[in-house]
Amino acid sequence: MVSVALAATRALVANPGSAGPNKMQPADYHMHTPLCHHATGNPVDYARVAIERGLDEIGFADHNPMPEQFDDWRMSLTDLPRYFDLVAEARGKFPQLTIRLGLECDFIAGHESWIEKLAGMAEWDFLIGSVHYLPGGFEVDHPRHMSRHMSGEREELWASYWKTYERAIRSGLFDFVAHPDLPKKFGFRPEGDLRRFYEPAVRALAETGMAFEINTAGLRKDCREMYPAREFLQMAHEAGVPLTINSDAHAPGEVGAAFPEAVALARAVGYRELVRFCKRERSVVAL
Ligand SMILES: [Zn+2]
Ligand SMILES: [Zn+2]
Repeated sequence: MVSVALAATRALVANPGSAGPNKMQPADYHMHTPLCHHATGNPVDYARVAIERGLDEIGFADHNPMPEQFDDWRMSLTDLPRYFDLVAEARGKFPQLTIRLGLECDFIAGHESWIEKLAGMAEWDFLIGSVHYLPGGFEVDHPRHMSRHMSGEREELWASYWKTYERAIRSGLFDFVAHPDLPKKFGFRPEGDLRRFYEPAVRALAETGMAFEINTAGLRKDCREMYPAREFLQMAHEAGVPLTINSDAHAPGEVGAAFPEAVALARAVGYRELVRFCKRERSVVAL
């Protein structure tokens, strides 16, 4: 009782008006490190900001290593021990903060066994599944492919993305999937009601029992909207799909970014719980 009351008071004092009395802030489970070559600040710096902002739990999920050089925006396999050290350093420095160890894993059809191998390389608290690559090598959110989002190909790209996303969910390799409607990043969406794309993914989530995230990074991109769109969130809530809320921080200043807005959106569609992870076991906390 005492610790719950203290934690609630601390959250209120640290971040007035955000989560409200007796409500914990969401755990931020999607944070990167400089090992992926496009993030700044070390885990200790992210942890410090998390405490300042009243979070009680965070988790690192850097871009997963591949068996060999694959692209220039992920950890290399040889840096994995360094990753563990950096997270351990943050845990040592801030024992009052729960710090989880995760990975953001690219789902690429044909590479499933590699993810299984990675899963055995550490005592992960969670593995996130992401789709950044489509069959044929298209990079969904890479600026060098932005022009293809502006072309007549858009409908086809979205169809391919959501088919791959559904496969990622049904692979059963992950604890939750990231930024559901990532292809909207640059602000281009197909015509009409987009629920035609969301429906199979939400059904796959419901059938497999996998969770997903609200990812506030979309607010910082051209689409100026969280991932996923409200309609997806609404459908997922109706289907009973578990939810996490994450920032996708690539810099310490982004830890917990726009969490009050994300909490308000989740509650508006009916969510009253979030899930947390420890050693790939899921638990539920009030939202
Ligand atoms: Zn990244
Ligand atoms: Zn991602």
